[in-house]
Amino acid sequence: MQKVFSGVQPTNNLHLGNYLGAIKNWVELSRQGGYESIFCIVDLHAITVKQEPNTLRQNVLNVAKTYLALGIDPGKSTIFVQSHIKEHAELAWILNTIAKLSELERMTQFKDKAKQHKENINMGLFGYPVLMAADILLYDTEVVPVGEDQKQHVELTRDLANRFNSLFGKTFVEPEALIKKEGARIMGLDDPTKKMSKSAASPNNYIALLDSPAVAAKKISRAITDSGSEIKSGANKPALTNLLTIYSLLSGESVKEIEKEYAGKQYSDFKKGLTEVVTNFLTNFQTKFNALDDTKVKAILEDGAKKAGAIAQSKMKDVKTKMGLI
Ligand code: ATP
Ligand code: MG
Repeated sequence: MQKVFSGVQPTNNLHLGNYLGAIKNWVELSRQGGYESIFCIVDLHAITVKQEPNTLRQNVLNVAKTYLALGIDPGKSTIFVQSHIKEHAELAWILNTIAKLSELERMTQFKDKAKQHKENINMGLFGYPVLMAADILLYDTEVVPVGEDQKQHVELTRDLANRFNSLFGKTFVEPEALIKKEGARIMGLDDPTKKMSKSAASPNNYIALLDSPAVAAKKISRAITDSGSEIKSGANKPALTNLLTIYSLLSGESVKEIEKEYAGKQYSDFKKGLTEVVTNFLTNFQTKFNALDDTKVKAILEDGAKKAGAIAQSKMKDVKTKMGLI
């Protein structure tokens, strides 16, 4: 069984980028046999940016419900909250002692977020990739399905695993990022040169999974398009390429098929079709999301923490022994 681990931060509103770049691939992997998967709600990562406690509490539960409503089966995968297992913070501290300032300074997410949060460039934000390495390495993870923006962090994780292993003996598995070509980087609807982000300045950047169909329709109608009028993907049409990717991944039709369907038609026709595809997806997702019961979801998280906790504790024991911590 190949071991899979990934997570999402319980910050703001999850969007189509999080689904198409990450969670959709988790669902596919966990439905194929041969994988043992763990999906985490990474609340310790979320607090590297200022969070309002009541909102954070609600967001953690919302992310758990999102995983379930998108098709993660808690009978087959482990779902848990990062802060419920103290070994994540403990291993992060240990990895901090072998991570180099120079390699962390190179991380583009840190550079972007430091610019975004000039008033709060804290140690946690800087050490984010080290905590992420701890998350992954605790579970002997082999496959990390993520969006393209997290590739650099998975590479750092491999470096840290490798460094620890050479210093103290074989302890960690070196994981591989699984980044699908299609959907790996869904771009902002208001700016096709930047990725869609939960923390984008304008809500017109993203379609949140909990946006009402009316709101989503409005965002699509406002979405930037390229010059010209052809419904075609390509390097010179970044906005259309992005919208076609979203259409294709949600409908299951290939980009080529969609281009054919809209040949000779206008952007407005294409946007109308896209709105229909997005609305279908959102309505289906939201019906499942709203039917979930909080008490049952909390029980799933407790059960997940028990299963993941046992693995994490045993790995930490090994780490401490190898390092001479008695
Ligand atoms: P934030 O802006 O707060 O960092 P985010 O939208 O980047 O939020 P994360 O919780 O950091 O979301 O990332 C969760 C997962 O979603 C990661 O695997 C990440 O690579 C993936 N992801 C995030 N944005 C996109 C995107 N625009 N396209 C594809 N995948 C994405
Ligand atoms: Mg992010």
